[in-house]
Amino acid sequence: MPKVILHIDMNSYFASVEQQANPLLRGKPVGVCAYLPKTKHGNGCIIASSIEAKKVGIKTGMRIADAKKIYPGIILVQNEPAKYRDTTEIIFGILGQYTDQVEPYSIDEAFLDLTGWVANLSQAEKLGQEIQHRITVEAGEWLRASIGIAHTRWLAKFGSDIAPKGGTLLIAPDNVEKIFSSVRITEAWGIKQPTAWRLWQLGITTLNELRHYPVANLLATLGKPGYYLWANVNGIELDGVAQTPAAPKSIGHSYCIPKRTSQRSYLRPILAKLCERTGRRLRAQQLEANGIMAYCGIVHGHGVGGSKRLPSPLFTTPDIFRQADALLFSRPLPDIATMVAVSVFGLTPLSQQQSLFTDILTPKRVACTLDAINDKYGEHAVATGAMWGTGNNAPDRVGYRKTVAVPQTQPAITYIPDFA
Ligand SMILES: [Mg+2]
Repeated sequence: MPKVILHIDMNSYFASVEQQANPLLRGKPVGVCAYLPKTKHGNGCIIASSIEAKKVGIKTGMRIADAKKIYPGIILVQNEPAKYRDTTEIIFGILGQYTDQVEPYSIDEAFLDLTGWVANLSQAEKLGQEIQHRITVEAGEWLRASIGIAHTRWLAKFGSDIAPKGGTLLIAPDNVEKIFSSVRITEAWGIKQPTAWRLWQLGITTLNELRHYPVANLLATLGKPGYYLWANVNGIELDGVAQTPAAPKSIGHSYCIPKRTSQRSYLRPILAKLCERTGRRLRAQQLEANGIMAYCGIVHGHGVGGSKRLPSPLFTTPDIFRQADALLFSRPLPDIATMVAVSVFGLTPLSQQQSLFTDILTPKRVACTLDAINDKYGEHAVATGAMWGTGNNAPDRVGYRKTVAVPQTQPAITYIPDFA
């Protein structure tokens, strides 16, 4: 029995949530920024733009100064991660009522395996429309989602990518050829320009040509990735919907420095705060890290810093900070800093193993207790002295690839499938 997969992707998510919260922003070009520029020519960039902002040419990642040149009337708002997480929780709560298999893919995307809950793809499409409607009622009338429905995960995601904004797209074996002929090959999930170029060298310029290309040739020239591409466009399932998102390879945070300085006394507390954020996420996932990277971008030339593997894994914030600090600030910075970043890698599940020589469990327990206090009373209710004086620097951020857990509810399907 073929699977029935639905992929949902919220449209212009952060900006739409802002417009939902403030009706005065609706229908207007809005740019969500990491932080608002302090001066008229302040730096910083747009991390999300509203549908209206995209229409006038303002793209995600664009510098604020450039956005203002394109459209001087752009309304800038500072991002508020808690707002997006709360809205995502409502949306994922709705999704969890349609199947027990929801894979949160990012803060505004999820895969649903509806196999067994519906009889066919068109019933899944009806469910998708119901979900879209419920989101506008329960999470906010300004929120729109694109939905793709197909027999495989890849095709469902591809479907929501090219579906009309706020609409659904069903990709079935009998319409896939027609849909493929309507899009450029680079619009397909995972086919970026370099891949498109390699395919072009084989004489493949469209998704349909890729679909009908001899798979043995693709394997011989592109290796395994060639097979994956071919399987994806041929509706062969490779991944399926994961119940829990894959464990991250690394966890890290970075911050663009608004002040022009190379002073360690200013930068170290910011690093400490980034280490605390990193540590909190590490511990929340019950992981420990066997390596660390710390980096400082500078105005002229390449950045400074480095990375290393560690003989014993990192878990607590002071341990992470000690290592990051040594990598970055054991010598004076050669130039004015532009950004500070820290990330931990080599992540493994937390081991409770006791060291023969040192008490390693007590600091771990203390770290978890501090996290619990901060969870309850707000971020930085308890903070280390190293973070003192950072004020509003390095505020909480939310990245698209960070997800929100699906609230634990029993699927209570409201749509009764018609199996006739
Ligand atoms: Mg989206």
